[in-house]
Amino acid sequence: MKSQPAYWRERPQFYRLEAGKCTACGKVCYPPRLICPVCQARTFEKINLPLEGKLLTYTVIRVAPSRFVDQAPYAIGLVETEGGGRLMAQIVDCDPDSLAIGQSVKLEFRKISSDGEAGIICYGHKGVPA
Ligand code: ZN
Repeated sequence: MKSQPAYWRERPQFYRLEAGKCTACGKVCYPPRLICPVCQARTFEKINLPLEGKLLTYTVIRVAPSRFVDQAPYAIGLVETEGGGRLMAQIVDCDPDSLAIGQSVKLEFRKISSDGEAGIICYGHKGVPA
């Protein structure tokens, strides 16, 4: 938990969903990379991932780490946004057992966890079934 504020400052792409789009082949990389994994080009255009996507795969967490134990069971999904960028996100506001691969999800900026003792609140994107 103590490292979260540093992470927040150092990784603006984390909360802005900044991705790199390869100028040669169009591959969208999130987080951005220096070298395209498809064509090895090194020039990227900075884009923001769209906030709508599809659930590529997911897993239901029933035994959660201590910070999230009060949220279990919950789903963590791999969301592919339009254009091909992918990110892992908790899928919320749903019964995790009702999810289906391929369904539409919206990404919303939500509180991820709070550390009451340190007064630290972490935010990030979560997926909400559309
Ligand atoms: Zn490329």
